[in-house]
Amino acid sequence: MTRRIWGIETEYGITCAASDPAASPLDAEHAARELFRLLVERERTTNVFLPNGGRLYLDVGAHPEYATAECDMLADLLAHDAAGQHMLADLATQANERLAREGVSGVIHLLKNNVDSAGNSCGCHENYLLRRDSRFRDMADALVSFFVARQPLVGAGWVRPDGSYALSQRADHMDDAVSAATTTTRPIINTRDEPLAHARDFRRLHVIVGDSNVAEGSTLLKVGMTHLLLNALEAGADITGLTFADPLATLRASSADLDGTGRYELRDGRRLSIVEYLGEIAERVSAYPATSDPLESAVWDLWRRGMTALASGDWSGIDTELDFAIKHRLLAQVRERAGADVAPAMLIRMELAYHDITSAGLGEALAAAGRLRRFTSPEQRRRALTHPPATTRAHLRGSVITAAKRARRSVTCDWLHVRLNDSRLPTVTLGDPLATSDEGIAEILADIEQE
Ligand code: ATP
Ligand code: MG
Ligand code: MG
Repeated sequence: MTRRIWGIETEYGITCAASDPAASPLDAEHAARELFRLLVERERTTNVFLPNGGRLYLDVGAHPEYATAECDMLADLLAHDAAGQHMLADLATQANERLAREGVSGVIHLLKNNVDSAGNSCGCHENYLLRRDSRFRDMADALVSFFVARQPLVGAGWVRPDGSYALSQRADHMDDAVSAATTTTRPIINTRDEPLAHARDFRRLHVIVGDSNVAEGSTLLKVGMTHLLLNALEAGADITGLTFADPLATLRASSADLDGTGRYELRDGRRLSIVEYLGEIAERVSAYPATSDPLESAVWDLWRRGMTALASGDWSGIDTELDFAIKHRLLAQVRERAGADVAPAMLIRMELAYHDITSAGLGEALAAAGRLRRFTSPEQRRRALTHPPATTRAHLRGSVITAAKRARRSVTCDWLHVRLNDSRLPTVTLGDPLATSDEGIAEILADIEQE
């Protein structure tokens, strides 16, 4: 399957800082309500499918979540992930202006990271469409090991409470290798069989282990290398020999292995470094034909330079592209200024600013200074705010939502269904995520345009 659907779900951490030191700030739940207030007034719900095909959602536990529309081009996925970030940052700006007007002491911050101030974790899930007939069961163990080895390369970097640095935030917060539950345990892949497509034909690989990435380079590499591996596996590649003896222990240990010298035992008794493991995967994957995605060469380039950086402990070759290195460089500056006995709290403040996606965060300034490379253009990101990807079923959903808004008609959607309320037309099921035309949708659009 060289065309494949991906979507990224990101839960954002929310905090509220007191603007007046004498007053106490809003708690997270209250802040999340403020964040969603305008949206709820307009849509009467905290679960909205958007004209760009994505989903904005306030789950229990006060973590706002954005799930991108289904994408099958890497640039679309990056642009739609950025669009979600932009929308939430906008909501925060509006909420903060309102709080200031109303004299409430508080400034809302949104964090694209994985651990909130109370130690609760937020997730960033990746979703990959698989054919039902792919050998998923045979591949599951090896895939889990691949996700373990991928983590140091695409981790977001993590300042531990004692001030020490690790490559991945999630690595310290996982417990179970494969499980069907997502919130009680934190598995690496979620095996709940919910394809969000025709179950006869498709599966959805639901990856839970990844860090929330700020850098587009890390997201690109994370999804890109996984997609290329899935292609190779579906075309017959075999990585079953590349299975770690203890995936979770390897995940934890390799996150702290900053100079890349650690070796981890495989089930067959071999001991490989993370880079040796990823090198073997790269070699097997590169034996298969390239895809037509314009960003595939960027994925390979980052993969190779990322491995060189990890193996040498010299991260300067990727420190404007991959999160763990960009953030480490920022922290090195703090250490330089503050001296050797820098307080962990200072490092942690800088780390939070790196993950803060509101106007108080560092993203814009880092990008402007050339220290956070983008792989999308401003035009691609702007367009993704309102336009669905053109090459997946998100195009159908987005067209209906856009038309219905214009005509003030009401539609109900989820990933698989579209229904025009107040009409006799049946609910449309979009079972093929790669389809961009559908008779039922054409009827709904015609009905809306008749009015
Ligand atoms: P939860 O938040 O409980 O984990 P979920 O993962 O089932 O819920 P959403 O949070 O709504 O569902 O996110 C679904 C994501 O999967 C979206 O980003 C969407 O684009 C993507 N997606 C939808 N259908 C498919 C599919 N068939 N294959 C792969 N990805 C899909
Ligand atoms: Mg979700
Ligand atoms: Mg999910």
